[in-house]
Amino acid sequence: MVFAHDGRPDDRATAPSTTVRPGPNAAAAMFSPTVADRQVLREIASWVADRLAYRDDTMPPRRRAPQLPVPQEHGIGVQAAWAALRDQVLPTAVPADHPRYLAFVPGAPSVAAVLADLAVSASGIYAGSELEGGAAVEAERSALRWLSDLIGLPAQAHGAFVSGGSMANLSALVAARHLRRRLAGHRPHLIVAGAGAHSSIISAAEIMGCDVASDADQHGRLDALALRRILRTVDPGDIVAVAATAGATNDGAIDALGELADVCAEHEIWLHVDAAYGGGALLSDRTRPQFAGIERANSVTIDPHKWLFTPFDCAAVLYRDPEVARAAHTQTASYLEPVGAGDNPSDYAIHLTRRARGLPLWLSLLANGTAGYRDAVDRCLDLAADAGRLITRADHLQLVVDPQLSVVLFRRLGWRAADYARWSQHAISSGLALVTPTKVVGETVLRLCFVNPLTTRTDIERIIADLS
Ligand SMILES: *Cc1c(COP(=O)(O)O)cnc(C)c1O
Repeated sequence: MVFAHDGRPDDRATAPSTTVRPGPNAAAAMFSPTVADRQVLREIASWVADRLAYRDDTMPPRRRAPQLPVPQEHGIGVQAAWAALRDQVLPTAVPADHPRYLAFVPGAPSVAAVLADLAVSASGIYAGSELEGGAAVEAERSALRWLSDLIGLPAQAHGAFVSGGSMANLSALVAARHLRRRLAGHRPHLIVAGAGAHSSIISAAEIMGCDVASDADQHGRLDALALRRILRTVDPGDIVAVAATAGATNDGAIDALGELADVCAEHEIWLHVDAAYGGGALLSDRTRPQFAGIERANSVTIDPHKWLFTPFDCAAVLYRDPEVARAAHTQTASYLEPVGAGDNPSDYAIHLTRRARGLPLWLSLLANGTAGYRDAVDRCLDLAADAGRLITRADHLQLVVDPQLSVVLFRRLGWRAADYARWSQHAISSGLALVTPTKVVGETVLRLCFVNPLTTRTDIERIIADLS
């Protein structure tokens, strides 16, 4: 390797080297792409395009290599390291954007969103403040605006993109507590949640040192009746917030948001709505009416990495009154003073340094338009309806409830928990699908969740046939 006078490796004078970057200038070589590195970057570009074009080919996951390379005193070079990632790591994962990945909540990023995510990684953007983030902060703001409008929040509503719905829920509840404490003079310690609340609400309560108050008799959606029953057993002054769910992860159920908003307004209780998964369905005329009342929430969680087609990780926390969030979350220190008082994304959640993880959503919205998003969400709802019909028609299967949003719960007649577990294992190892069991009122059943418009009716038919 020959080095130019400025200490950068001079590739014009050498053949690309795949090995080590030794010597006093190793640091320079580590941070400037060589000709060989550029070759790898081009290779990655076509690898990305191929993977997105043939997502179907990425199942079943390849068996793990006996041993992954381990970092050593001397490096193996970018080319060899990329080969290890490409050949030994990436193919062993079950890709969440595979058309027959129907467990949990999958993620199906658009091409535009993936491109933006790659560019964000390469751009060195610190997206915690306007001072450093420049128009990246503005673009994220515009994506947050789009989400607020989708929900129906007022013009001043605002928030930030965080790593996931768990962090969004925690950030919102911490802001709610901050306000309550300021108004009441004591620290409230109860979070009210319905039976459909996501596990992250319970986890947030644990982190905050709070207890969860719920109604043992309530199984389906949380409504005014159930909330009033809970309120009779606790002091409303002790309540941090009511955490409602708009699209329960397990069954897609939406709490009675309008009724809950009425009761919360009556008692001056903060209403948080967790629409991490379900929020995408606000785009469809078919499902939107079920969300009536969400526009009255004090805070909302919505995950673009679930049903709004961005790569992991991208969730949004939105506040009706962003000033409350700023008061709760702004970090202060002498070294942070130069950042200034702009619209700084770090001030709205539990984070400081952050990637501009809202840019993929912004770019994807820009590229595909709201109409593209609406079509993609409708397509997922169609798939859930198709699955419901196919299951109803199959002699060996039975719907547990009609599909809610894009979740389908069904039983295989004659099967017990162990049979479901065995089949699910077989389905993944044979490359058929990732479909896992869950429980509904104690009974083990199968669950499909459609957020990937690339899934086809044939995919569903293959799964149903395999269950016979
Ligand atoms: C997935 C989910 C969460 C948690 O979101 P993460 O992004 O996984 O942290 C919270 N609430 C609901 C309703 C969810 O479906």
